[in-house]
Amino acid sequence: MRRRELRRRVFEANLDLVRHGLVTLTWGNASEVDREEAVMAIKPSGVSYDEMTDDDIVVVSLDGTVVEGSRRPSSDTLTHLVLYRDLPDAGGVVHTHSTFATAFAQARREIPLFGTTHADFAPDAVPVSRALRADEIEGDYEENTGHVLTETIAGRGIDVVPAVLVANHGPFVVGHDAADALERAVTLEQVAKMAWLTLGLDPRAQPVGETLRAKHFSRKHGPDAYYGQPTLER
Ligand SMILES: [Zn+2]
Repeated sequence: MRRRELRRRVFEANLDLVRHGLVTLTWGNASEVDREEAVMAIKPSGVSYDEMTDDDIVVVSLDGTVVEGSRRPSSDTLTHLVLYRDLPDAGGVVHTHSTFATAFAQARREIPLFGTTHADFAPDAVPVSRALRADEIEGDYEENTGHVLTETIAGRGIDVVPAVLVANHGPFVVGHDAADALERAVTLEQVAKMAWLTLGLDPRAQPVGETLRAKHFSRKHGPDAYYGQPTLER
């Protein structure tokens, strides 16, 4: 039952990538981890979103063995596994080649923090990773992609660095579960689009000031957050 629900949530997150216009063809994948069982569920490789059912979602142990499902898991599986192993607060991962975020990745430019939409999402510019070296590309490419991601996040946590642009590739977004990672991926694409338009209007546009930046991030995140409705624990 628990596995079935995990697969169902990951299936829905993958369909949501299409619903939100973040993927073309099959260029994207979402996963979620179950820490207690030390497994993650992920999209199957190369299966079109139209044909996919929750039975196609593959369950993989954190050491990389397929434990449930008849499909081959996404070719990016090893990247997702490195993120779950190295980031203790990661619960869901989404990878896309969404147009605007990928354009920044290809230009190898971080996404500057130009306004409050971005500040609600993250307290800093969205970073771009270093380029992978030739030996990292020729070797364990997908695993090394995971390593440059965690190297870029550098222990700051997934609420401070919810997304990283892999140089010349595209965004990886981390959330507390698959649905959270999906919402962050939608936000990232919108933030990237707004930044692109801002740079079009003024190529010398400056990042938002410190007071407004801190106000917006702390409104939604951290101990003094007051955005939304209070939960029972608070
Ligand atoms: Zn990719």
